Amino acid sequence: MPGGNAGHCVMRVYDDIFYKAVHAHEERLRAQRTRDQARRVINKMMMPEIDLLVRVAPRPWESLESFAYRAVDLNGLRSLSEIASALRWKPGRALSLERCHQLMNSLGEGYTQLEPMIPTEIDRKTVLLGGHRLKRGLLALTTSRLCPDCVEQHGYGKAYWSLAPLAACEEHGTYLVDCCACNPDAPLSTTRPGYMQCACGADLRYQPRRHTSSAAQSLAFEIARRYKTDVGTEQDDHESNSSMLPPETTLSELLDLTTFLGSVNPDYANMNLDRTRPVVKLSHVSKRFELAAQALACWPTGVFPLLRFAYSQQREAPYNSRTAYQALQPVMHAAERWLSPQMYKWFAEAVAAFIQTPSAWKSHSNSLPVRDCAHGRN
Ligand SMILES: [Zn+2]
Ligand SMILES: [Zn+2]
Repeated sequence: MPGGNAGHCVMRVYDDIFYKAVHAHEERLRAQRTRDQARRVINKMMMPEIDLLVRVAPRPWESLESFAYRAVDLNGLRSLSEIASALRWKPGRALSLERCHQLMNSLGEGYTQLEPMIPTEIDRKTVLLGGHRLKRGLLALTTSRLCPDCVEQHGYGKAYWSLAPLAACEEHGTYLVDCCACNPDAPLSTTRPGYMQCACGADLRYQPRRHTSSAAQSLAFEIARRYKTDVGTEQDDHESNSSMLPPETTLSELLDLTTFLGSVNPDYANMNLDRTRPVVKLSHVSKRFELAAQALACWPTGVFPLLRFAYSQQREAPYNSRTAYQALQPVMHAAERWLSPQMYKWFAEAVAAFIQTPSAWKSHSNSLPVRDCAHGRN
C-alpha cells in the first residue's frame, strides 16, 4: 500500500474508504502536475510545428493517415513526413499511450475527437483504436488501405480499414486496395506523394474496382458497425439481429472469428501459422474474408463446406458420427486456441450440427455452399 506521503492527519484515519479517497485525490493531483508540466514542455517544443494542423478538422471515423495527408494538402506542405515529424509519429507504428496523451495535450481542447483515430499501444500485445482494445495482430498498421469508391466520394479514408482481417468496404461492397497497379507486390506506403496518389503518379481513385459478394459486404458491415459502436454502449438497434452471430459478439471476437474461419485448412501447420503470424496483404486477406463471409452468411450450414475441406486430405471421409468428430479434432483444437470461450462454444454448436448431418460429410465438393439457406440475407 502506498501512503508514505499521506501525512500525519491521514495516518490516524483507519477508515479504509476515507484513506482510499485521500489517496486517489493525491494521485489525481500528482497526475495533474505531471500533465501540466508535460503540457508546458510539449507546448514549448512543439506548438510552432503543430500549429499547422489546427485548421484541419477530422472527419467521421477518419484514419490518422488520411487526416495527416489532408493536413499536408491544406497547409501546402511537401510530404507526410513533415507532419509526421511534427507529431513525432512514425507512420505504420502505434503511438505509446504516453506519447498519445502528450499529443492530445499539445493540440489542446477541441482535438479530443482525434484521440480515437490514433493507434495507441497499451502494452506489447494490445493496441487501442477507436476505443477498442485489440490484439496487435488484428491491425494492419504497416500498410495503407483504402476503398477507391470512398475516397472518390467522401475525400478521406476510414480508420477501421486498418483492421487486418477486414478486406471490404461495407458501404460500396468494394474490396479495399493496398497496392497500385504499377506494382502489385509493393504495398502503398506513406512516402507516396498524396493520400490518393501513388509514387508512379497514378490516381488511386481510378483503379479498377473489384466487387465483393453480398455476403462479404454484410460481414464488412457487421465489423464496421461494431467498430463504430461505443464500447460499453448498449445496443438497441434492430440491425444487430440481422446477423446470425451471438448478439453480444464484440469487435475483437468477430475479427478473430473472421480470421479463424478464413484460415480453416487441411494443412494444420499453415492454419497455426496464420494465427501466430497474421495475414495482412489484401490479396490474401480477401480470399479468407470471402470464405468467412460465405460461412457466416448462412450459419451453421454455410460453414459445412469449410469443415469438409478441413479433412479433405484424409483418405477416407467420415462414415459415422464418431469418425466425423475425430476428423474435426484439429480444427476444434485450433478454434479453442483462437476464439474466445463464448465464440468457441458457438462454433462448437455448428460443428455438432455438422456431425449430426451425415449428408453433409459425404459431398466431395469443396466449392462454396449452394444456397439452401432459410435466413437468406440481401
Ligand atoms: Zn467505400
Ligand atoms: Zn503506382
